Amino acid sequence: MNRLTAAIVGAGPAGLFTLDALLRQAPGVRVDLYERLPTPFGLIRSGVAPDHQGVKAVVRQFDRAFAREEVRLIADCEVGAALPLELLCEAYDLVFMATGAPLSRRLGVPGEDLDGVYPAAAFMAWLNGHPDHVDLNPQVGEQVVIVGGGNVALDVARVLAKTEAEMANSDLCAHARRITGAARVITLAVRAMPDQARFIPAEIAALCRLEAAQVGFELPAGADRSAPVAAALSAAPQRPSPARVRIDFRFGLEAIEVEGRDRIERVRFRGSDGLHDCVPADTLIVAVGQEAGAPAVKARTYPVGWAAGGRGDIPAARAEAAAAVRRALAETAPQPREAAYAQLEGRLEETGRGFLDWAAWRRIDAAERAAALGSRPREKLVSRGALREAARLYETE
Ligand SMILES: Cc1cc2nc3c(=O)[nH]c(=O)nc-3n(C[C@H](O)[C@H](O)[C@H](O)COP(=O)(O)OP(=O)(O)OC[C@H]3O[C@@H](n4cnc5c(N)ncnc54)[C@H](O)[C@@H]3O)c2cc1C
Repeated sequence: MNRLTAAIVGAGPAGLFTLDALLRQAPGVRVDLYERLPTPFGLIRSGVAPDHQGVKAVVRQFDRAFAREEVRLIADCEVGAALPLELLCEAYDLVFMATGAPLSRRLGVPGEDLDGVYPAAAFMAWLNGHPDHVDLNPQVGEQVVIVGGGNVALDVARVLAKTEAEMANSDLCAHARRITGAARVITLAVRAMPDQARFIPAEIAALCRLEAAQVGFELPAGADRSAPVAAALSAAPQRPSPARVRIDFRFGLEAIEVEGRDRIERVRFRGSDGLHDCVPADTLIVAVGQEAGAPAVKARTYPVGWAAGGRGDIPAARAEAAAAVRRALAETAPQPREAAYAQLEGRLEETGRGFLDWAAWRRIDAAERAAALGSRPREKLVSRGALREAARLYETE
């Protein structure tokens, strides 16, 4: 009897939970998990805020899956570039596309390309050490405007407002530590009203507890003051002395232009009353969501996670992956694919690169942990070269 085989493209939460679901729902399945970066974990490593170590700890549960002989991580291997997707479709019974939503939505307003304007995902990837974003080198001034009504906007505000001591247990990258203490006024501009904003009230409460920040808010006429988000903001304590940083929430504001000569100087908004308002800004972070781009549609490919259009959080990825695997298994019978698989293996070898497996990740992990000082959990390696070296990719060459 043929053994079921599956490839998963992308080792973020969706890919990892798909692996978990496959192992539970199809015992005996052989799974290869492809990842374009030298490290697994997708946005858990490169998006989730560096001070949210509890969220990042979700990765620990996957050690057991990769200890199985029938599961293989093939990292540092971009499907589509190093390896054509068609080859995967021939070589495996099932191909899950867990490639995330790498495109940041734009405001679509004049001035958006001025210096000092950054997509939130790129900003968070930079401070999290994503190799593709280490050169972003954002200029964070005293006046920061963040546009967006979701938790990523709150993450950016919190990371900017925390003190050095409050960031001491984080894995904020060494190159990004200069942002701590840079901002004096952070304006969170939200197009929605508080009852429509997607902020988690507990995350607002966490902002209100920060050591050196004073949280304030302005509600337009008619806004529902009893909405959980407004209630969480109303509970912000008033500090007896001026705070080092002010975080101002403003609702019902739509960004209509980024103004400045060579670089951003202010952001022009239209309020819910139709009147214009300008907020001075040295830095603008745009946190209005991500898009997956055109899906790779091939026979027997199943998009999962953010690649499938969902924009849920990490726990949501688990349930979505389990459902996608159930659907895929219901329509698939294993086929003889040895020849195609051998061809794929040959192609992997031909590239001469030596891709990184789970043991390689464990060596990177150990190197990063060993380099951490004080209470930091790790000192991240941020270039592909350093990551490959830590994985001892070159030792055997
Ligand atoms: C800034 C930010 C902060 C967040 N914070 C939280 C939080 O605190 N808590 C929470 O629950 N959720 C959080 N989220 C949401 C969470 O990160 C997502 O729900 C989740 O990461 C989506 O998982 P995914 O696997 O679909 O995509 P991703 O995590 O983006 O993973 C996609 C993976 O596919 C790889 N890939 C892409 N193309 C290829 C290719 N061609 N070949 C091989 N590999 C490829 C990528 O390198 C990446 O590793 C946050 C999101 C962002 C943007």
